[in-house]
Amino acid sequence: MTLRFASLASGSGGNCLVAEVNRTRVLLDCGLSVAETERRLERLGLAPASLSGILVTHEHDDHAGQAYAFAAEHRLPVWLTFGTRAALAEEGKHPGEVETRTIDGRARVAIGDLEVQPFTVPHDAREPVQFVLSDGAVRLGVLTDLGTTTAHVEATLSGCDALVLECNHDLDLLWGGDYPKWLKERIAGPFGHLDNRTAGRLLAALDRSRLKHLIAAHLSQKNNRPALAREALAGAIGCEASWIGIATQDEGFGWRELR
Ligand SMILES: [Zn+2]
Ligand SMILES: [Zn+2]
Repeated sequence: MTLRFASLASGSGGNCLVAEVNRTRVLLDCGLSVAETERRLERLGLAPASLSGILVTHEHDDHAGQAYAFAAEHRLPVWLTFGTRAALAEEGKHPGEVETRTIDGRARVAIGDLEVQPFTVPHDAREPVQFVLSDGAVRLGVLTDLGTTTAHVEATLSGCDALVLECNHDLDLLWGGDYPKWLKERIAGPFGHLDNRTAGRLLAALDRSRLKHLIAAHLSQKNNRPALAREALAGAIGCEASWIGIATQDEGFGWRELR
């Protein structure tokens, strides 16, 4: 079997990744408009009708904003935690006709040929999770939106064949920038977002013996630069900076394949 994945967009303006094993194909988060999601799927050669469902990490708009709308339009089920569903409901976002399936942050789920392993993360959302996706042999770890690394996160991501890893900000750019103090504190805090250096430390703590793809994701347009993220990760693990991919807001990244 082959696990193939690509990103439609990554960053606070909207996140969406697509992963497939055989005929099972899921969106991981749905933060772009319905029309934009359709347009970018087409760019990857995919029709919405070919999707099996949507996995949602947490209720923040850049991840869950259009999940119900897209699911309703294309009759797809949505997987999300109880807390995410409740938090969305409090914002007046209800699934309506959309079929929802509850994720337990400690339990694997099978969606067709795709094995989904959710794991819990510290982030300022109700019950956020991130995911490891697998075809049973190779594993893709996706980790964005976490304030700090934990032993649980590192144990879960160890041994992955591919990693999409948050490099949200450079601490010097963040603190030297013009965001209000409360926002800087939120972003840099233990329930905010991962900075380049902490992402590097996390990466260095993992078993990387199988790692073939490394992509920096969820970069702040204001408080980060691709070169800084690459430099931090490359410095932490001693690889070529140019080997590290960048998931961008406008383009995401193209198909990558694991066998
Ligand atoms: Zn986010
Ligand atoms: Zn978030």
